Amino acid sequence: MVRDCIFCRIGSGDAPGVLLYRNEHCFAVADIEPKAPVHLLVIPNQHFTYLGSLAPSFYTVLGEMFAAARTLAETHGIAGSGYRLVVNQGENAGQQVSHLHLHLLGGRPLDAMG
Ligand code: AMP
Ligand code: ZN
Repeated sequence: MVRDCIFCRIGSGDAPGVLLYRNEHCFAVADIEPKAPVHLLVIPNQHFTYLGSLAPSFYTVLGEMFAAARTLAETHGIAGSGYRLVVNQGENAGQQVSHLHLHLLGGRPLDAMG
């Protein structure tokens, strides 16, 4: 738990947020500035900033995050039409929140990445 981290605060119930999914590894919320009709964030319960700071013993958490994204894509009706999973890491990727998270985007054709 990092006190000034908004995702730690939502996950612990210290800040408001509607949890769309939760298990012992991760939880999901809707992005407050959605870039697509479906834009959810899958967030590990534990605070990590970068993949590079993740110990191999926590790789299970990454798998759980992808499994959660798959489930959420199904429950939000975008599994068939397709979706994008994004992890922004560091300055060049424009990472705004320093708590690792997986964006799940879908519900419309998505622009080519660049
Ligand atoms: P990133 O650029 O990958 O760090 O993305 C951070 C995302 O978190 C952005 O898309 C923000 O809109 C989103 N965000 C920031 N604060 C909140 C919040 N309190 N609840 C939901 N999403 C948030
Ligand atoms: Zn955090």
